[in-house]
Amino acid sequence: MDFQLTPRQRELQARVRAFADEVLKPNAAKWDEEEAYPEPMVRRAAELGFLGLTIPEEYGGSGIAGPIESILVIEELARGCANTAEIVFDALLGPMQVVLHFGSEALRKRFLPMAARGEHIMGIAITEPHAGSGATDMLSRARVEGDSVIIKGTKAYVEDVVSMSSVLVYVKFDDRPGAKSIGGLIVERNRPGFSIGPARKKMGVRGCTQANLTFEECRVPKENLIVPPGEFGKLMAAFNLERCGNAAMSLGIATAAMEEAIAYAKTRVQFGRPLCEFQGLQWKLARMAMQLDAARLLVYRAVSNAASGFPSMKEASMAKAYANEMGVTLTNEALQIFGGLGYLRECPIERHVRDARAWGIAGGTVEIQLNNIASELFGRRFSQWPTTAATPKT
Ligand SMILES: Cc1cc2nc3c(=O)[nH]c(=O)nc-3n(C[C@H](O)[C@H](O)[C@H](O)COP(=O)(O)OP(=O)(O)OC[C@H]3O[C@@H](n4cnc5c(N)ncnc54)[C@H](O)[C@@H]3O)c2cc1C
Repeated sequence: MDFQLTPRQRELQARVRAFADEVLKPNAAKWDEEEAYPEPMVRRAAELGFLGLTIPEEYGGSGIAGPIESILVIEELARGCANTAEIVFDALLGPMQVVLHFGSEALRKRFLPMAARGEHIMGIAITEPHAGSGATDMLSRARVEGDSVIIKGTKAYVEDVVSMSSVLVYVKFDDRPGAKSIGGLIVERNRPGFSIGPARKKMGVRGCTQANLTFEECRVPKENLIVPPGEFGKLMAAFNLERCGNAAMSLGIATAAMEEAIAYAKTRVQFGRPLCEFQGLQWKLARMAMQLDAARLLVYRAVSNAASGFPSMKEASMAKAYANEMGVTLTNEALQIFGGLGYLRECPIERHVRDARAWGIAGGTVEIQLNNIASELFGRRFSQWPTTAATPKT
């Protein structure tokens, strides 16, 4: 087992860190306060080649990043600005991975070069008003008519609607229960019948606007059907990578809070001594550092073991649940170290607390990750257990 980054990985990490320090950090509060899409930041990130890192050269990217490099990039960006990081996260480990791995050559040629240039952002629409964690109970339906697929339904909490050029929609093709009839297809923003609802005001990551999407007899060409029903496992495999990207958002936000808390503890004087001289606070920060490193190792393990390009569900869920909870705990502890200042909007810590809260809900809640882990521990089909097995003999 190797815990060292390669020289190339370290060089990439340093490059992104410099961008985050010089460009993102000084501007991050603005996008949050104005609840505005950080367009200039994303454009700059695209110019620096960050959005095309996972896209092979033949489709216009540099192709130099696999899952682990992507995690390093997302983590560093989230340390600077969660809004910019979320857009890049979607580009690196979001629906474009589905296009890359499962799309036809025509779909790859259509979407990947634009994505690498930062000119096409693809959202993902799974959740519905009545089907969140239980996503397989979705009510949206699609039917094939000749060369077209027609969709009807509503999706909820879809992120990045301002910048989105298209969306990967999970939809059922018949009424069978479970995932068997779910497929995934790409709907471009300008398709008749597709509409985006009003923005829903969020607690954190406020530059990435969220809304409901409506599909009213929305017709798309059949070639946009990227994962047909019956192949839901492909969507889930790709989603395990997305879960790791989500965990990296928690890592980056927590790192920012940690660094700021250490710097503050060195300079804030009470009782004639800097805060960092109080052992109670040293232990608090030591515990925070341990939790951050533990989360980081879980995330790095999940992506390092992604032999076929996708992490296992168990390792991805462990990484996501642990990192998400760590992010919430750590940012709150950092706020405590800042005292009254930490509670003011002029202090970046309160933003980190709000930004960190998103990730244990987005991409599947912490509880659902725990269910995934438990299903691996006990076997998926609990109902196979003989119901009398645990009954003591009398
Ligand atoms: C910032 C953010 C971004 C998002 N972006 C997107 C997006 O781009 N696209 C998209 O499709 N969706 C998106 N979502 C939606 C997100 O995926 C859902 O909110 C999430 O899956 C939970 O669904 P729900 O809100 O309906 O909660 P519910 O499923 O109603 O759950 C409510 C509570 O019950 C718990 N719960 C539910 N079932 C179980 C169970 N079996 N065992 C234990 N506990 C359970 C949940 O963990 C949760 O705490 C986003 C959400 C957020 C907060």
